[in-house]
Amino acid sequence: MSTVYLLGHPVAHSLSPLMQNAAFAALGLGHRYETRDVTPEELPATVERLRTDRAVLGANVTVPHKEAVMRLVRSHDGEATRVGAANTISKQGGDGPDGATLQGWNTDGAGFAEALREAAISVAGKRVLVLGAGGAARAIVPVLVRGLAQVTVANRDRARAEQLARTFPTAGGAWRPEVVDWLPSWSVAGADLVVNATSLGLRDEDPLAGVPLPSRLVVVDLIPTRQDTPLLTRARAAGCEVLNGLPMLLHQAALAFSIWTDRPAPLAVMRRAIGIG
Ligand code: NDP
Repeated sequence: MSTVYLLGHPVAHSLSPLMQNAAFAALGLGHRYETRDVTPEELPATVERLRTDRAVLGANVTVPHKEAVMRLVRSHDGEATRVGAANTISKQGGDGPDGATLQGWNTDGAGFAEALREAAISVAGKRVLVLGAGGAARAIVPVLVRGLAQVTVANRDRARAEQLARTFPTAGGAWRPEVVDWLPSWSVAGADLVVNATSLGLRDEDPLAGVPLPSRLVVVDLIPTRQDTPLLTRARAAGCEVLNGLPMLLHQAALAFSIWTDRPAPLAVMRRAIGIG
């Protein structure tokens, strides 16, 4: 039996243990998934302990460690390299004197793409306003650009949004996202779809407080909670189509499960564990 840790700060509120422990049990694997609250100062030593502890199968990484962990693993998959952040760690080897090597992965973008696909939300040709330029935004904007959306990014720290936009070439077919000032009230009026990729909503905040939401708008909030965030409550009341962060949470978790176990994730079991089955 091995353990998978979720490293974050704070981390106690996470729904990931419910999903992953249900998945391990359903496949009779006997592993367990535990949260571990780790401060930024503790992260390097914690990751090194994961590497050397043979009873550890791997890890998930969440706010605020997804970027810092990139420097603590030996290699990254292409998506983690592109995004500059990892949400999953796997281990290779470990029988030799040097112990295992760690690989970082980013399954957030693929989880987001699958959540959109499942909800039949098409982004091709749509004007999509992304709120935020942190790790989550950096994972989903490439998915939107690859899906041929016209992307606008607004972030409180505008320089961070500009940095994100610069990661897209202007030549060679990829559209570079446009950057607008925070708070982008006029951009909402011109958008077909809004994605909240800020952390506003976890504690009852509305990133678009005071901004009218037209009923034709599709509103996606990445905050992975069972209860509607204030933004989704308002969007529903305005007649908008809405999608919360749970389907993305499910699909990024399913991909991580397969990375650790080399098996397809029992999606229906994981879905039921977080109440969306
Ligand atoms: P980061 O810490 O990397 O980024 C946080 C973002 O929120 C930044 O854009 C930041 O802006 C913005 N922000 C924070 N506070 C404020 C504020 N008071 N006003 C305006 N903007 C603010 O976090 P992540 O990108 O990793 O995560 C963001 C959210 O996405 C989290 O809530 C997380 O739970 C969720 N998420 C959901 C997933 C899912 O599977 N559903 C997967 C990954 C993330 P600034 O740059 O100006 O500080």
